[in-house]
Amino acid sequence: MDCIFCKIISGEIPAAKIYEDENTLAFLDASPNNHGHTLVVPKTHAKNILDVSEDALARMMPAVKKVSKAVFEGMGAAGLNITMNNEPPAGQVIFHLHIHIIPRFHGDGLKVWTRKIPYKSGEMEEVAEKIRAVLHTLIF
Ligand code: ZN
Repeated sequence: MDCIFCKIISGEIPAAKIYEDENTLAFLDASPNNHGHTLVVPKTHAKNILDVSEDALARMMPAVKKVSKAVFEGMGAAGLNITMNNEPPAGQVIFHLHIHIIPRFHGDGLKVWTRKIPYKSGEMEEVAEKIRAVLHTLIF
């Protein structure tokens, strides 16, 4: 499989590694939104949130917590954004699941949540029902 993150995990491609455990690797994003922008990836290939097993995702989260604290304190940040882009319309470019940890600084100019699309009357309940209808079909 031609996956750049699998190659980083195997050591075939170098990266500025931050943290590693049995299930997870964290390394600096080579095109950072802010310095210290870190990616946390599962060592077992999964495309994104739609593809990963719940167990594999759960095994990553302690690393996300640890690395977040280290990025926050190590970079002297004032905040953090934790994001995951899933599929191209959401900005996913590398198709190996990764969680972004982005340190934030007062006035750093990075724009997220740049728009709001208000619901019309009754529309919010319709939208909630569409999502709940699928959720009820899933086996947990
Ligand atoms: Zn991969």
